[in-house]
Amino acid sequence: MTTTAPRDEQLWSRCAGCSSLLYRKRLRRNLDVCPECGTHVRLGAPQRLAQLVDPDSFRALPDRVVEVDPIGFVDVLPYPNRLAAARTGTGLDEAVLCGTATIAGQPAVLAVMDFRFLGGSLGCAVGELITRAAERALADRVPLVLVTASGGARMQEGALSLMQMATVSQAIGVLREAGLLTVSVLTDPTYGGVAASFATNTDLVLAETGARMGFAGPRVIRQVTGRPLPEGFQTAEFLLRHGQVDMVVPRRALRGRLAALLAAAAGAARPAPAGSAAAQVASGGTAIAAVPAPRAAGSAPAEPAGAAPDVPVRSPVDRRGPGATPDPVDAWDTVRAARHPGRPTTLDYLDSAFDGFVELHGDRLGADCPAVVGGLARLDGRPVMVIGHQKGHTTAELVARNFGMASPAGHRKALRLMRLAARLGLPVVTLVDTPGADPGVDAEEQGQAAAIAESILTMTALPTPVVAVVTGEGGSGGALALAVADRVLMLRRAVYSVISPEGCAAILWPDSPAAPRAARALRLTAPDLSRLGVVDQIVSEPDGGAQADPQGAADELRRALSANLAPLLEVPRAALVRRRRERFRRFGAAGSLAVKR
Ligand SMILES: [Zn+2]
Repeated sequence: MTTTAPRDEQLWSRCAGCSSLLYRKRLRRNLDVCPECGTHVRLGAPQRLAQLVDPDSFRALPDRVVEVDPIGFVDVLPYPNRLAAARTGTGLDEAVLCGTATIAGQPAVLAVMDFRFLGGSLGCAVGELITRAAERALADRVPLVLVTASGGARMQEGALSLMQMATVSQAIGVLREAGLLTVSVLTDPTYGGVAASFATNTDLVLAETGARMGFAGPRVIRQVTGRPLPEGFQTAEFLLRHGQVDMVVPRRALRGRLAALLAAAAGAARPAPAGSAAAQVASGGTAIAAVPAPRAAGSAPAEPAGAAPDVPVRSPVDRRGPGATPDPVDAWDTVRAARHPGRPTTLDYLDSAFDGFVELHGDRLGADCPAVVGGLARLDGRPVMVIGHQKGHTTAELVARNFGMASPAGHRKALRLMRLAARLGLPVVTLVDTPGADPGVDAEEQGQAAAIAESILTMTALPTPVVAVVTGEGGSGGALALAVADRVLMLRRAVYSVISPEGCAAILWPDSPAAPRAARALRLTAPDLSRLGVVDQIVSEPDGGAQADPQGAADELRRALSANLAPLLEVPRAALVRRRRERFRRFGAAGSLAVKR
């Protein structure tokens, strides 16, 4: 609802759905649902909590956010100024409010996001706070309830915000293994990195009436496809129809429905975890199993200043590019180098850096995505499972491979092959080269957000060594879906980013072509990400780049992979998973210790 004249702001609101002029107190009494047309007005986190939990039962967790600005991001305003404004505007420290409470007497830990705070964007502090909430749920052995409202990852924190998708997902994974219920309640809007992680990889997913959820937002999809969207696209009813949520619940029924679910879960005497995460995954198991989660809705929340709806930029077929030049110094030059159509693709590397590749196809659920290839191969004589994004060198190849943009079927094929590798005791090597996950209408209908979320969560517990290499473009959630690894390597001229520079520029500098500036602000080059700890090793490229000497590049890649894989093969599986989780757990606090007690 928008308000009418400022003078009347406190007393009256005009409904955005039916334009009725409503007395505010009446609206509030009706839980901020229009009594005339049923439009659900967005709620801030404190108001949401007041509606959901028993009176006086909420106890905020003691964690407090300190100032963070991990990459020194400046657009037209320095990021700390935006944070300060959001704090003043909302009275909150961050975009999520976490605490313990009871709902109709049932104890739970809640994490409630607030869209007013930089678009509910997921940054290091938000990731850390939700992770701590999950850890509290584990300690108290109570369910975790997440109420989501977010435009996506917080681009002002660069790739570190992308890492939060893994950090929070693994906390959800630990609760799954402990037999503790996790529930997400999707509210309007839930998009991007939040949709593609903890909004959809929980046990149960409820959508509030009026919620929209999706991996890509409608504006981005329209821009990419050039077509109008189907009626009701990404709405709660759409999500229900496409199998992505368990139920659609009107606001007035939400508290009662949550109470009933929590009571049912509490009533089922849950056995202690029967085995390690590893065992469960390897057996195709229950805890971390492949049930595609429901997924997101996107709305066109006018791009909040923080969130990152992204338009993948397809590689142009353009043979210009950095010729025989030294490694690019400028970030934008690196972006252009990473997109060079002459760079070796995953299939090229499978031919040149590996031996005996046997491709395996299909997600076993109805499709085979050409943008993801995978199968069995040998690396220096050692059998491995290799999975990677596939682009192409010509326009025809790029079109046939959907520019390396994976569909949900691609993510599910990757997941199937990773689980197979774990069962067979094979290490996994992933080659990441994608502008981003497919942002199409079909992809949304088939559960793109949930497919990515499940892949990320599964990789946090995969009981076999995983080494990921960003070989070209590491585009946001689609890249992370193959990059939750024990060791993350990056070619010198590759890039890895929470959002494309073009997408970032369109939001922050709408009036000027600012992609080069955005590229620099995002810290997306290999040296940047190595400094931030996102990348463990930079793989050098031949003079002029990988496309100038593909066999030289393949040799470098093979040597780096072997060197990184060998020590991992000696690590017991439980220790492997524990260390991988520690690796991603660090990113929560990486933004200079985001939270203190
Ligand atoms: Zn109305």
